[in-house]
Amino acid sequence: MTRLADLHIHTFYSDGTSSPQEVVLAAHEAGLHCIAITDHDTIDGFSPTMEAAQKYHLEVIAGVELSTEMNGKDVHILGYLFDCQNKQLGKFLESNQGDRVERMGRMIEKLKELGIKNIELEEVCARARSKSVGRPHLARLLVEKGLVKDIREAFDKYLAEGSPAYVTNFKQTPFDAVSLIKDAGGVAVLAHPMFTQIDEIIPRLVKGGLGGLEVYYPNCSDAAIQFYEGIAKKHHLVMTGGSDAHGKAKKHTYIGRMKIPYELVEKMKEAVGGKQA
Ligand code: AMP
Ligand code: FE
Ligand code: FE
Ligand code: ZN
Repeated sequence: MTRLADLHIHTFYSDGTSSPQEVVLAAHEAGLHCIAITDHDTIDGFSPTMEAAQKYHLEVIAGVELSTEMNGKDVHILGYLFDCQNKQLGKFLESNQGDRVERMGRMIEKLKELGIKNIELEEVCARARSKSVGRPHLARLLVEKGLVKDIREAFDKYLAEGSPAYVTNFKQTPFDAVSLIKDAGGVAVLAHPMFTQIDEIIPRLVKGGLGGLEVYYPNCSDAAIQFYEGIAKKHHLVMTGGSDAHGKAKKHTYIGRMKIPYELVEKMKEAVGGKQA
């Protein structure tokens, strides 16, 4: 039987809603052999998920989704199989978490200018289990306060890229994130390239140490997948994929929504020289 993996999963340590226990149960029920926790700018969920996975014989590999900025656009870089104790990685995560809190304050200010005056930074931050506070936390609060009817409206009306309360405030660039992950002994992967659309910088990222492309992602066309398979082959990049599950926070995806053959995980392990996180 083919062993399957889902390498893009969020927990409630960032903007997902699931606990490590809920994640491993869902992964087990989806018949997965291996998962990666890829929370935004935190690795706090990795150890508890590994622990929770023990009773299922489910492999959990180290992962993270780093927020970076390029020309005013959010770019997500996934990291896998890195050394969790790496000091530079710790500093990077701390810096991004600081950027996130500052950015949240600015988004709340923008909402105030738009007439929404009853949202405070402290209450949004209280929603995040780590310091990795993000737009989904704010969106949920807007829904709970009856200011929008659902998460979708919160993003469409206020928080999506280009909307009036959107702010990007990440000091790190995709190049910084790629070299950081590489130096920490891991594989750096450009997340959901079909949605981020920065194909023009892929060759430069490859020169900077990019090791993979997230080719397999939910809700994208076969043509898009084939296109990125072609780019990955051209640059000798590992192909990865996953569901980008966020628990109840993202209705259209769930753990196991995207399953990739375990051979692709083995290719990543080969790329880091057989080292395992
Ligand atoms: P942030 O990390 O604060 O920039 O928020 C990005 C996260 O917001 C993504 O990882 C998704 O979880 C979520 N997100 C982005 N766009 C949307 C959208 N249009 N609807 C719902 N969730 C979204
Ligand atoms: Fe997210
Ligand atoms: Fe992402
Ligand atoms: Zn994600």
